[in-house]
Amino acid sequence: MRLYKKRNDIQGFITHLQDKKQEIGFVPTMGALHAGHISLIRTARQQSDFTVCSIFVNPTQFNDPKDLQKYPRTIEKDLYLLEQHGCDAVFYPEVAEVYPPGSGPAPHYDLGRLESILEGAYRPGHFQGVADVVSRLFYTIHPDKVFFGQKDLQQCRVIERLIAGNPDFDKIRMNIVPTLREPDGLAMSSRNTRLSPEELRKAPEIYQTLLYLKEQLAPGDLAPLQETAKTRLTREGFRPDYVSIVDTQTLETCGSWNGHTPLTGLVAAYLGEVRLIDNLELV
Ligand code: AMP
Repeated sequence: MRLYKKRNDIQGFITHLQDKKQEIGFVPTMGALHAGHISLIRTARQQSDFTVCSIFVNPTQFNDPKDLQKYPRTIEKDLYLLEQHGCDAVFYPEVAEVYPPGSGPAPHYDLGRLESILEGAYRPGHFQGVADVVSRLFYTIHPDKVFFGQKDLQQCRVIERLIAGNPDFDKIRMNIVPTLREPDGLAMSSRNTRLSPEELRKAPEIYQTLLYLKEQLAPGDLAPLQETAKTRLTREGFRPDYVSIVDTQTLETCGSWNGHTPLTGLVAAYLGEVRLIDNLELV
């Protein structure tokens, strides 16, 4: 497995791959890798000639400085895992390599309503940071296919919009990989390592709540169901930011359901100091 820390170095190698007509699959991550990330790598390997993973804890997408400071960093283990699972190259840059000093302010990305709903409402600036770093990584790696997790569904919609809105990204094909869960239903996440043993026992309740939404879903007004689900989480000791049933494509809240539109349930909730998110296709 090749390890690159400099943009120019990996770009030189990418040009060489392109000359050889190799299709490049790209998996951006912030490290602290777990089986969910590895399933993205596995999918990328199946669908591309050459798989590149980036590991970069992007400071501009953290709206809470404490969250950035406490973000787990396990680079040695990450590199070992990636090598074990057949990743071909890793891009592991320093902050100054991605944001060269003097390169000026980031452009503003038009993300439409995605910026103000759900995660956008609770994490101001987060998706601008995501759009900027992913855009910089796309310009470096020039991928043919990119792989993102359904776990971060709103992020997937942001990336789809980023790709659609920039002719330089025309050739990029977006792939959304299903959420990998622990046997108890808890969605795998780097942040789970910050949960205490007791919190880890409670955390699967988020998935149970999503299953409850799926079971109880019926045409008509969805507000009471969302409220009941939120109360249920609060009773279990969570501090929910939202429990929302939304149109799967636009992510707009569905007030009254016609019984046909595809819907997804999304949850964001604090357990102690850790903010967890998850979602489930309901229909
Ligand atoms: P992160 O390192 O948390 O930024 O995640 C990097 C990529 O892995 C993103 O596309 C995530 O959506 C994806 N991912 C994170 N957790 C999971 C999971 N449990 N299952 C599948 N993909 C995941």
